[in-house]
Amino acid sequence: MINNMNSTITLNNGIEMPRLGLGVFRVEDSSELINAVKVAIKNGYRSIDGAAIYGNEEAMGEGIREGIKEAGISREDLFITSKVWNADLGYESTIAAYEASLNRLGVDYLDLYLIHWPVEGKYKEAWKALEYLYKEGRVRAIGVSNFQVHHLQDLLGDAEVKPVINQIELHPYLSQKNVREFCEENHIQVEAWSPLMAGNGLLENEILKEIAKKYNKTVAQIVLRWDLQGQVVTIPKSTNERRLIENIDIFDFNLNKVDIDKIDSLNQDLRVGPDPDNFDF
Ligand code: NDP
Repeated sequence: MINNMNSTITLNNGIEMPRLGLGVFRVEDSSELINAVKVAIKNGYRSIDGAAIYGNEEAMGEGIREGIKEAGISREDLFITSKVWNADLGYESTIAAYEASLNRLGVDYLDLYLIHWPVEGKYKEAWKALEYLYKEGRVRAIGVSNFQVHHLQDLLGDAEVKPVINQIELHPYLSQKNVREFCEENHIQVEAWSPLMAGNGLLENEILKEIAKKYNKTVAQIVLRWDLQGQVVTIPKSTNERRLIENIDIFDFNLNKVDIDKIDSLNQDLRVGPDPDNFDF
């Protein structure tokens, strides 16, 4: 049973990643973000997922510095992720983008660096840059985001280092069966973005409400627990202290098989974010 807030999963290169972390997309107000990161760390979060395109790496870094000081922990206790944006995909430009993210965050290494979107004709060169950073010991792990099976097959065809992670949109209305199966066979860990469907109605689902009532938990907690029991790393975003605590308070119960099946059956292949096979940014 996954019954510990600090429970980790071992990635294919042997490093440990917390099963649950904090997402920081769409938090534009610096003081709100600094506070959220600080409060999250105080309450036990050890993984934070950011990206250059979110435009808030400075505030994320400040929250980290203040958070670790208040919690009496060190940088090494955290798992920090960022992502290279589409405009920077290329060998030199990806390395420069990595350096720029480190500077904005005020850290000297990342735990995980991802290719944010599989831009055709560009992601392989960027992957070579990530391999270089990894081999040089500048980053602890490298991975991808929004890769479909065919993107992964293409990348694996000539990659020297296998991605440790594929971070994809995943929630009960988009269960991503195919990508998950492929990733499992290839020892690539799946990580869920918009695990709560980014506030687009999932939490009002009646079946989920019923299950939540039964376990005396909230719908958000049921959905996040479903991720964990499905061996999916999850990174819900909140800047609200009550919800930050709620989202990490999921290590004291177990969904049974019947309820997991019920949640699995909610799939509608419904995306709330862009389609990785059809985006133009
Ligand atoms: P989430 O599914 O995490 O949902 C966040 C929304 O749900 C916010 O409005 C939040 O509001 C609300 N919320 C959080 N907890 C609860 C709760 N317990 N009960 C009710 N409402 C709640 O959406 P995101 O899109 O932010 O996804 C999470 C993270 O994934 C991002 O922050 C980012 O790090 C990553 N991501 C990656 C992408 C990629 O392309 N790789 C794309 C999109 C996201 P409030 O803050 O007020 O609590």
